[in-house]
Parts: sequence; C-alpha cells; structure tokens
Amino acid sequence: MSVYDSLDSITEELRKCMKCGNCQAVCPIYKESRQEVGAARGKISLIEFILSGEIDMTKGLSERLSLCTTCNACSNNCPCGVRFDKIILAGRAEAVRKQGMHPVKKIAFTALKMQRMFDFGLKAGSIFQSVALKHIPNRHSKLARMRVDIGIGKDKVFPMLPKKTLRSEFPEVIKVKNPIMRVAFFTGCMINYFYTDIGRAVIEVLTENDIEVVIPKFQACCGIPASVNGDANSARTLAKRNLRAFERMGADALVVACSSGGTAWKHVFGELLENDPELKPLADKWAAKSYDISEFLIHQVPFKKEGLGRVSRKVTYHEPCHLNRGQGISSEPREILKSIPGVELIEMKDPGRCCGMAGSFSLVHPDISVQISDRKTDDIAQTHTDTVATGCPACRMQLQSGVENAQIDEEVLHTIQILAESYRAGKKEQKSL
Ligand code: SF4
Ligand code: SF4
Repeated sequence: MSVYDSLDSITEELRKCMKCGNCQAVCPIYKESRQEVGAARGKISLIEFILSGEIDMTKGLSERLSLCTTCNACSNNCPCGVRFDKIILAGRAEAVRKQGMHPVKKIAFTALKMQRMFDFGLKAGSIFQSVALKHIPNRHSKLARMRVDIGIGKDKVFPMLPKKTLRSEFPEVIKVKNPIMRVAFFTGCMINYFYTDIGRAVIEVLTENDIEVVIPKFQACCGIPASVNGDANSARTLAKRNLRAFERMGADALVVACSSGGTAWKHVFGELLENDPELKPLADKWAAKSYDISEFLIHQVPFKKEGLGRVSRKVTYHEPCHLNRGQGISSEPREILKSIPGVELIEMKDPGRCCGMAGSFSLVHPDISVQISDRKTDDIAQTHTDTVATGCPACRMQLQSGVENAQIDEEVLHTIQILAESYRAGKKEQKSL
C-alpha cells in the first residue's frame, strides 16, 4: 500500500517511534518555533490521534502538517529508524483527501500539468517583472530584487526571468564528434524557467566530455511540489508524462542538476506508480540509470581534468537536503570543486542544515523560511569566502536571497557552473600559449 493512498500504510512506521525527542535537536522548524508540533515527534503524535479516531483531520491540523521542510534531518537522527519522510507524505495526502487542496496550490499544480500555459505565464511574467517591479540588480549575478510584497515575503529575492526557456534555446539532440555516450538531461522547472545558466553549464560540461546530450522537449515538472503537498494524482500524471517523453528519446543514462528532480527519478516515480503494471517497470528502468550531475561525473564518466583552467575562487559548499540525505551525495560535488585549479574550498558550519527553501514551504511560511535562511547566511558569512556552491537551483535561490539581504558580497552558483567556468578558462589559457 502506497503512502499516498492511505494513512494505514504508515502504521508500522508510527509504532517505531519511542517519543525520545532526538528529532527536536536537528529540526530547523523546531529551532525557530520551539513548538512541539514543529518537530517530527509532535506531528507523529497528531497523526496517531487521527488514526485512532480521537481527533479529526481539520484545516488547522493540515496547516500544522505543512510546517515541515521535508529536510529529513529527523529521520537521519532517529535512533529507532523512523522514516518520517514517509509519515509526512502520508499525513499530507490524508489532509488533501479530507480537507481538499489549498486553492493557491491547486492552481499552481494545475498549471504545472499544462506546460504551454506555464511557458506563456513565465514569458508574460518576464515582461511584467521588467516593467512593473523595482529591480536592484546584483553586482555579479544579474539577479534582481523585487520589493513589492506579493504575499510571499517582502525580502525574497528572485532571479530575473530569462527571455527564453532553456529547452527552447537548444535542439532536442545536441551532437558531438565521436560520442562516448548518449545522456538525457532532465532540466526540471527551476533550470528551464529561472536558472538557464545552470542548464547551459550542464550541457557545456557534458559535451566537453564527448557526451551527446538529449533534452526531450515534452518533459514536465518532476512532480515533487505536488507529491510533498499531498497531491498524488497530479504527481502521477507528471511522472507518467516524463517517463514516456524520455523513453521515446532513449538514452544510456539520465542526468539532473536539481536535487528534487533526482529524488523524483530515483525514488518517487516508482513509488507513485507501484500499482501501474505498464509504467512501474519503466520507472524502475530509468531509476537505475538516473544520476545527479556530480555523481555522474565522478562515478560514471570521470570528467576530463586536462582541459581545466584556473578559477580564482574561495568557495564554501551548501549541501541540499534532497541531495545529501535524499540521495547520499555529499563527497562528489566537493571532489569536483577540489579538482579545479585555483579553487579553495572552505567548509561552513553544518553545511547540511536546511536552507529553509523547501519549494512551496517558503511561499506558504515566508517568515519561518527567512529565519532558517538567516542562520545559514550567518554560517556563510563566517567562512569569508566569495562564492557559495550548491547542487540545487532551489537552494541557490534561497541562498542568494539570504546573502543579498545581508549585503554579503558572495556569488551563489551551482557546482557545475564553476566546473564549466574552469573548462572555459582552460581554453583561454591554451589560446594564449
Ligand atoms: S527521534 Fe525518532 S523515535 Fe525519537 S521522537 Fe523523533 S521520530 Fe520518535
Ligand atoms: S523533515 Fe526536517 S523540518 Fe520536517 S520534521 Fe523532520 S527535521 Fe523537522
């Protein structure tokens, strides 16, 4: 029985909890709110009461269940091995069954399923953003600050929307001379619509390593925003669309540069489609050949070191929750950074602590999201670096917002962008010889 279909599916998981409270110590929500319901133990108790029929799933309860960044620090720190990630998914799915979806989320998830409408909305947004909102461009990264409070936190900094989406910039197949492999690139929404510079860096690095890149035009959102908010039906629709789009194009492997997208391909699609006899085998097949870009470049096709040029940067690395705890990828981005000539890697305190973005969490709970972000910004400032690297575009947005608001002179980049920069520097060095 899937966690998305019934609260009964997590009965065993709930039984494992001995209410020790170890999860409080690592929970970013508890740290800010100091409320029992912030941590996993509090939410577990609430769900137990619902299951036993002592209380009903009310609107207030469903709001309490929304107070979680799904960072998974609690599961990692639990002496009983409680999988709180499963518990929160089942609890939120039950909340949607009993209370319906929040109207704003309902509109957002419907839009995610209608790609043309989404493309059009983002195009209109890019025009609106540049004519109607006040921008304060960042000195380095061309990000802009929107000071109009549109209900998602006045201090939130957004990147300028690019005029063209990544997928409309490139053909579906990017050929190279004598390819050693054909790799499909799942761009995800953040890279396709907001951070096209990360997508270009992925393509640049793969082609530099003699890899043919396939970018299926009809790929969709990874569905994680829907699945973590209890909308399993929308998430299933998106999973099916993605599997069919990638199967149609075919590839030896699939890469992602977004921690949610990687989690979706490796774990979530299979869980969502476990009762689908046609698509479950396809989900398992693609899960087995899906890689985060750093994992792929370290373990699958070790990237060329001979073309790397000097990049003078003092870098600190923030670990995205869904990359580190979700996929066990932590040493690989550091290995890439350490191999770039000129890069000095300086660790921040607790690099795996959540940044507070968590997709729609930061929109629904902007104040607590900013409080969590402020702690991260303080840790970054302590490193006295000039660059923060991370492995997820959503974290990049949150970190950028934090450093901009704190007026820290720090550029926030995806690890793959620094590697691409090094290949470019290598070519310049070659020319100047
Ligand atoms: S750490 Fe684990 S066992 Fe202890 S209260 Fe939290 S979830 Fe329960
Ligand atoms: S997943 Fe993270 S935010 Fe949610 S209860 Fe666990 S530690 Fe707290």
